[in-house]
Amino acid sequence: MINYDFPYAYENKLYHTLAFENQARGYKLYKASLDAGFTCPNLDGSKGTGGCIFCSSGSGYFTAAPEVPLENQLATEMARLRQKDPEARAVAYFQAHTNTYAPLPRLQELYERALRCEGICGLAIGTRPDALNAETMDYLKELKECTLLTVELGLQTIHERTARIINRGYNLQEFMEAYKALKIRGIRICVHLINGLPGETKQMMLESAAYIGQLRPEAVKIHMLHVLRGTPMETLYREKKYRPLSRDEYIRLVCCQLEVLPPETVIERLTGDGKKEDLVAPLWTADKLRVLGGIDQTLDRWETWQGRYFAGRETRIRDFLNREKRGSV
Ligand code: SF4
Repeated sequence: MINYDFPYAYENKLYHTLAFENQARGYKLYKASLDAGFTCPNLDGSKGTGGCIFCSSGSGYFTAAPEVPLENQLATEMARLRQKDPEARAVAYFQAHTNTYAPLPRLQELYERALRCEGICGLAIGTRPDALNAETMDYLKELKECTLLTVELGLQTIHERTARIINRGYNLQEFMEAYKALKIRGIRICVHLINGLPGETKQMMLESAAYIGQLRPEAVKIHMLHVLRGTPMETLYREKKYRPLSRDEYIRLVCCQLEVLPPETVIERLTGDGKKEDLVAPLWTADKLRVLGGIDQTLDRWETWQGRYFAGRETRIRDFLNREKRGSV
């Protein structure tokens, strides 16, 4: 279906993809993933010690060891990217753990070293809202004047009960304070959501997307919770206290979430990346193309698109619940 009501369609996609962004920019921008040796306040004892119950390696699955100098990590990443695209340019993605969790001089040194590397034309900084102070954000504001900059904020869910179950270590108010402080400074924000967290209903996940949509972030990443080897989530799963969503449930849910997100928000991810060797469940997440294809087909079949119910999120949630009762979601 070609939808002329959806201004961000690209290659018949019915959501606002990174591919559309790249086309509008005139060149393709990749991400070069880094582990710059940070830790996390939810691991080192300042907020908690166990970390989020799904955490394994602080999400730095594709990064090199933190001991490898940042310049070498980026050179390796650029060589990898240029094998498929000789003209590749990239943002340095500070991915592993909490990448604003250090004194400002250390952050300045790391970010600026990354920006001096060949082929790097910006930064994406993954962090938690409770690891952003005013001094750091003021510096990020200066930085975004001279380079491409995105702050990636993990939220996962708006529901406080779930936040306690997953041992996230901060509440929604802390997220909102950081979000607003970044927005006031004009910094591009990408919010992360996870579907299939323990104890969450589909309505709750849809509410998280609808809530975030109303904040109009520049970008969103959504993925399914991965049960990884060696994490507390693995124990819950093995003890049959946790049931992951099926692929079809996930696909239909994501389509509903896309409907309540604003059309201008770039969808940077709809499937997760995890180490396949460590993935315990759900195994269907390893076939990303099938998930993405299912999302495209479902949007097309429903004759819907990202943002269709953005202004009327309550209507969409009611509609979703009615559909679920009829067994079609
Ligand atoms: S915030 Fe990230 S790095 Fe820290 S414990 Fe949670 S998942 Fe792990």
